[in-house]
Amino acid sequence: MSKPPDFAKLRSMLGQLNLDQAKQLYAELGAIVQTLEQQSTSPEPVGAKGREVVEAQRIGERLYQLERIRCGKIGCKCAGVNGVLHGPYWYAYWRNEGKLISRYVGKQLRQVE
Ligand SMILES: [Zn+2]
Repeated sequence: MSKPPDFAKLRSMLGQLNLDQAKQLYAELGAIVQTLEQQSTSPEPVGAKGREVVEAQRIGERLYQLERIRCGKIGCKCAGVNGVLHGPYWYAYWRNEGKLISRYVGKQLRQVE
C-alpha cells in the first residue's frame, strides 16, 4: 500500500484554485472515482429502499447481508409504516466488471458462486 496523501496539504492547495481550475479538477476527479468504482470488486454495504440490513458479513470479495424485505405488494403484511417486513434473508453482493450483482441466498448463510 502507498502512503495516504496529505489531505491538509491538498486542501490548502485546493483553496488556491480559480473557478476554471476547480471545474477541471472536479471533472477529472469524477473520472477517477468512476474508474476506481469499476475496479473495485468489493461492494460497500447496500442500503436499498424498503430494506433493513440486520447483519453484514464480508467473505472474500463478496458481501453478505441479512435483510428484512418490503415486497411492495398492496395489502401485504409488510405494507405501510408499521408493516411487518419479510425475512430476514441473506443476500450476496459483489461486483462483476464494475456492475453490482446481487443474489438471493436464503434463510441460512452460505457462500454462493
Ligand atoms: Zn410483503
